[in-house]
Amino acid sequence: MEDCIFCQIARGQMDSDLIYEDELVIAFRDIDPQAPTHILIVPRHHITNLDAATDENVQLLGHLALVAAQIARQEGITAPGYRLVTNVGPDAGQSVPHLHFHLLGGRPMHWPPG
Ligand code: 5GP
Ligand code: ZN
Repeated sequence: MEDCIFCQIARGQMDSDLIYEDELVIAFRDIDPQAPTHILIVPRHHITNLDAATDENVQLLGHLALVAAQIARQEGITAPGYRLVTNVGPDAGQSVPHLHFHLLGGRPMHWPPG
């Protein structure tokens, strides 16, 4: 995906505040943070969103969640709590069509979300 922002970040063709990477995923700080900690956990492989994921992605999806939990511990937000969300489609406000999880923490958050 030549013009996908997150593919470009994963390939190192666009700068980001990278905080974690391995062979499957990268994680970097959101450019427009909505909480003191706002990190995006992103597969290197282009998948449009969770709806486009298949059984082939089971291991990858589990890995994304566990990487998020590990980063939350590193960020020191596990005890007060955090939120892990993925937006799918326009009603949810998905603006980048490359699967990603938002890790949000460092302040109390409302439920249900707006
Ligand atoms: P979505 O709205 O698709 O769930 O989330 C996309 C997120 O990507 C937004 O929170 C937005 O601020 C973030 N974002 C968009 N472009 C960039 C970028 O170039 N760099 C970084 N670090 N974040 C971005
Ligand atoms: Zn992509």
